[in-house]
Amino acid sequence: MRAFDYLQVTRVDDAVAALGEGTHCLAGGTNLIDLMKGGIAQPRRIVDINRLPLTEVIDTPDGGLRIGALVRNSDLANHPRVRRDYPLLSEALLAGATPQLRNMASVGGNLLQRTRCYYFADTAFPACNKRMAGSGCGARQGHNRIHAILGASEQCVAVHPSDMCVALSALDATVVVRSRQGDRMIEMTRFHRLPGNDPAQDTRLANDELVLAVVLPRPAFGKHVHYLKLRDRASYAFALVSVAVALDVDAGRVRTARIAMGGVAHKPWRAFDAENALAGAALDPVAIERAGRLSTLGAVPLRDNAFKIDLAQRAVSRALQIATERT
Ligand code: SF4
Repeated sequence: MRAFDYLQVTRVDDAVAALGEGTHCLAGGTNLIDLMKGGIAQPRRIVDINRLPLTEVIDTPDGGLRIGALVRNSDLANHPRVRRDYPLLSEALLAGATPQLRNMASVGGNLLQRTRCYYFADTAFPACNKRMAGSGCGARQGHNRIHAILGASEQCVAVHPSDMCVALSALDATVVVRSRQGDRMIEMTRFHRLPGNDPAQDTRLANDELVLAVVLPRPAFGKHVHYLKLRDRASYAFALVSVAVALDVDAGRVRTARIAMGGVAHKPWRAFDAENALAGAALDPVAIERAGRLSTLGAVPLRDNAFKIDLAQRAVSRALQIATERT
């Protein structure tokens, strides 16, 4: 591991003042420390933000919820208001990692965790555009069973690994960030980016910005939600495909549907075509099967992962079915 400067801060503005090129924030460290040990992240300076006052979960005036960036994943999953009003988020958090990791991992760190592409995580593989621009993409010609079927580019076919972010995308959350210029809000659906020609950038967060909080709008989906995660092992494994579904249903018809998928793209993937097809439709098997098919519109499989298209379609249909039956 390369030597680095270490700075501990207790005020948000001191943290923001310290940010910039080559600086990383340390919260739970469940991803960053691994990346540093592997030589993938080589910060010149670490700003330890664990003592910042960003650990509160607060009701917002419009009935939503503001979640501090340092709230631990376990605490958020078990928060009474989250369990009651945003069970989709609680389910997604509890599907991730292990209890020990969830006790350490923070909301901000979860947002910013990096892909688990094998070629990215192992510096013995020289070709990885995300690690080193212009070096190529080992996964495109190599083993790509876990990689993207939607939104990928020639430069990168990695997927975002988070469960929490898939639920936050379906729930239309907003990320609050601060720089020396002030605060700004980034919609969750725009926070993570597709790889395009610059796969090094996972998100729209600038080097000099600190994540302060995630804000959830007023709950709108009642009990008709479900997070379905499909993976090679029953626990402690990243999703091959995951689906977060939220339905606003009135007399058997869908008023509004939200469908987000994980494990299929460089960002949590909102299935807008499927959502639009469900709006106003009766929740019958035909509509549910059609929404499943529409969820992968535009998918382009790689050599090893064509199975993900069928898996994603069935997962969406299954999650919709379960959400529909919940009372
Ligand atoms: Fe690197 Fe992305 Fe290719 Fe993986 S998929 S090797 S992260 S460029």
